Amino acid sequence: MYWQAELECMDRGELELLQLERLQATLNRVTRNVPLYRTRFSDLGLDPYDLQSLEDVRKIPFTTKDDLREHYPYGLFAVPLRDVVRMQGSTSTPGKPGVVGYTVGDIHRWSHLAARILVAGGVTKDDAVQIAFNYGLYTSAFGIHSGAELLGASVIPSSSSDAQRQILIMQDYRSTALTCSPSYALHLADTLDELGINKTALSLRFGLFGSEPWTEEMRQEIEARLGILATDNYGLSEITSVAGECLQRDGLHINEDHFLAEIIDPLTGQVLPVGHKGELVLTTLTKEAFPLIRFRTGDLTTLMDSECACGRTLRRMSRIPGRSDDMLIIRGVNVFPSQINEVIISTGLMDPHYQIVLDRVGQMDRATLCLEAPESFCTDSIKESQRILENVRLRLQTALGVTFEVRLVEPRSIDQQYGGRVLDKRTLI
Ligand code: ZN
Repeated sequence: MYWQAELECMDRGELELLQLERLQATLNRVTRNVPLYRTRFSDLGLDPYDLQSLEDVRKIPFTTKDDLREHYPYGLFAVPLRDVVRMQGSTSTPGKPGVVGYTVGDIHRWSHLAARILVAGGVTKDDAVQIAFNYGLYTSAFGIHSGAELLGASVIPSSSSDAQRQILIMQDYRSTALTCSPSYALHLADTLDELGINKTALSLRFGLFGSEPWTEEMRQEIEARLGILATDNYGLSEITSVAGECLQRDGLHINEDHFLAEIIDPLTGQVLPVGHKGELVLTTLTKEAFPLIRFRTGDLTTLMDSECACGRTLRRMSRIPGRSDDMLIIRGVNVFPSQINEVIISTGLMDPHYQIVLDRVGQMDRATLCLEAPESFCTDSIKESQRILENVRLRLQTALGVTFEVRLVEPRSIDQQYGGRVLDKRTLI
């Protein structure tokens, strides 16, 4: 049930002492070895040893994705290259991707963190773990791979091969756990249907999904169609395996002995109390090659302080509804495209194709949802179509607090390439 019970179920006071000790050591290391941090701290007159409590970390400026870009490729490494045993790309910096280095110790710790997430999601050494993430410069596959090996499970590195081949492997190798992105899991479910294979022909028991925001509705659909228990996990290419759900599936336990998590208001940078939604800021506490201090992840979440029935004391974070840079502000209300998607799916429309168009009438924002008519609409009465549109409109209003005009458009008339799912004309007006 646990991978490292002594750490995952630690007394809160002891955990915070450990965090403070590790924070001081990390700050000391970056002051010595990373010019960016050395300059920043000395400009502010900050001495790492002056930090007496975890709250004192708030005196330190944030590290941003721009910092990563400006110090590409090796400017933020805190060890000489001869001590780096692996390099991977970081995906979340727009433009040129960043590069992240790992020492032997970093890889070892990362494996333990991934093993924790696997065990929390139900995986044991008796499982065969099919890893359908791409093996390449980006990190999704590697952490899970080494974590599963450390755990003693059988690793099936199927990588990102085509869906039919994944299913062939899944059947023949009798995979019991699947790790990939949630949207790929749904694609595999579609392929199963196309091939006429019943889910009972598979041996799958658990699915561990991450690398993109997904919804509770998607979880239910994946579970029903693949016959598995699905958990969410969260990591960043710059940081490694940050958090994962236990089988209670009520928030993701953060690996707080290795990362210090804060939530800030994305606009003001002010730290928000536990229970408030804001941008996740992470400080690595044990990384040697690529430590990051108060790194702004761009991901929005809420920290949860309540006890978890699984017994882990590591604080949880809510699932990520979207990135702060994806956030739309419509008539002063913060809205994420993923929330809109969730509402539309909750009305029972399967795989809806739609586009959100934002423009202005006078000074007022106008939000329009253009929904492609599903094939079934052709045979439905106009009255029935109107009822469905009204239902979507009401649900959007209730869930988001924003009034949308909902229009039906011809099937296959929306060009997803142009403007993607959101076409914000307000910036063009
Ligand atoms: Zn739990």
